Amino acid sequence: MRVCVIGGGLGGLAAARALVRAGHDVQVREAAPRAGGVIGSSRVDGFLREHAASSFLGGPAHGALALCQELGVDVVKAAAAAKRRWIFLDGKLRALPQSPLAFARSDLLTWRGKLDVLREPLRPGRTPGEDESVHAFAARRFGAEAARAIVAPFVTGVFAADAHDVSLEAGFPRLAAFDEAGGVVRGMLGSVVAAIRGSVGGRGPRTAEVKTRSGMWAPRAGVGALVDALAAELGDRVQRATRVEAIELSAEGSRVDGERFGAVVLAMPAQLATSLVPAGSELAIRLAAFTRAPAAQVYLGFRAGPETAAAADGFGFLVAQGEELRTLGVVFESTVWPERAPAGHVLLRCILGGARDPDAAGLLDEELVAIARRDIEHALGIGGEPVHASVVRWPRGIAQYRVGHKDRVREAVAAARPARVVLAGADYRGPGVNDLCVDADVVAAEVAQWRA
Ligand SMILES: Cc1cc2nc3c(=O)[nH]c(=O)nc-3n(C[C@H](O)[C@H](O)[C@H](O)COP(=O)(O)OP(=O)(O)OC[C@H]3O[C@@H](n4cnc5c(N)ncnc54)[C@H](O)[C@@H]3O)c2cc1C
Repeated sequence: MRVCVIGGGLGGLAAARALVRAGHDVQVREAAPRAGGVIGSSRVDGFLREHAASSFLGGPAHGALALCQELGVDVVKAAAAAKRRWIFLDGKLRALPQSPLAFARSDLLTWRGKLDVLREPLRPGRTPGEDESVHAFAARRFGAEAARAIVAPFVTGVFAADAHDVSLEAGFPRLAAFDEAGGVVRGMLGSVVAAIRGSVGGRGPRTAEVKTRSGMWAPRAGVGALVDALAAELGDRVQRATRVEAIELSAEGSRVDGERFGAVVLAMPAQLATSLVPAGSELAIRLAAFTRAPAAQVYLGFRAGPETAAAADGFGFLVAQGEELRTLGVVFESTVWPERAPAGHVLLRCILGGARDPDAAGLLDEELVAIARRDIEHALGIGGEPVHASVVRWPRGIAQYRVGHKDRVREAVAAARPARVVLAGADYRGPGVNDLCVDADVVAAEVAQWRA
């Protein structure tokens, strides 16, 4: 079947690869001169900057790590020094506890807050099928303190959004499943028991394989290397600098800029796609319900010295809501990935904007750099002159999964299907690099139901 994929970001490229492997004749139309969408990597002043995604977990069997291995992309694992994570709460950095003993000693929660967390297994679960915000879930199961101090900053780390707005079901499906099955502590213990049983019961090699994939990974040259390898494999099927202007919907196969295809994969931001399909159509109305929040990343490079010591301890920090810092979070890039900075240097990535503070993403570069410098001096004590400062920003960066997201996806898919249109990309079934790699098979399965 002839299939047109509109949008050559990771969502479109991964879907195109799955469709080619299923035997279809695929064309990818990408508006920009380069493929990859928001994902890309560039080296400036010797520092490697990620333009969007900077890593992924190794776990999923059909995720990004497996794809890198298939494509021959050289990968590295995050450094062991990156284990510790910090939360900026009530005016200072506090370590996220990594063991029961550390939890007992932690200054993130009061004793009352800790007792609330320990009562988690006794609390009632959600009514199955009813969505709620991650904040409401966390407050119900762990108590209000843990919801503010731990869960809400973690949500910011993924969606750059207020945890009161993010859907539990769609944004954190594993937590939602644990909640329905009797609680997070019980669910996590159950996973550990299942893993032990798997290794005892003769499935040792599989468990060992999962173990070697554990942790956080990235291509050595940056995540841009993954989209570059995908685009290279697809070859001249990827038409760059080719902006699609209109889609006519038809049950016999929709037309893209006048050309009929057996199926169309819409892998561009839904917010933009609304203007390509007929105004007032059911699909246009459904697509308008999805948004991506703007995001800005400020990269700061410093000469390493005693003053930068705090940036050598851990992955980075997230900022709780209501704090005086405007930065949402900071990643200690050169600690997590030592090859991303020249020897003797430190690289920090400061994230601003998101749905929590969309106006920040529109500030001038100088203003963003000034805010990031002020915030890292306050939180980490790094006040010296950077040897590198630059900004990467996206007006439509981070897909937002608001409460009720799954219902909106169901409705949008139902509106697209009669016209042989498949919805792909970060707006629908998972925004992360792994989600998009796994989702490629979902797209191919949807196309498989139609005949040429
Ligand atoms: C700052 C930031 C940090 C992130 N960090 C992580 C992370 O660490 N780990 C992780 O897993 N995920 C991360 N993500 C999320 C992840 O990178 C994105 O969700 C994902 O890359 C989006 O891919 P996409 O293909 O859906 O969309 P996009 O990358 O936006 O691609 C869509 C493409 O469609 C094209 N297009 C638009 N209009 C048209 C048109 N009319 N015709 C043709 N083409 C068109 C665009 O040019 C673009 O190339 C991050 C995102 C951001 C912004």
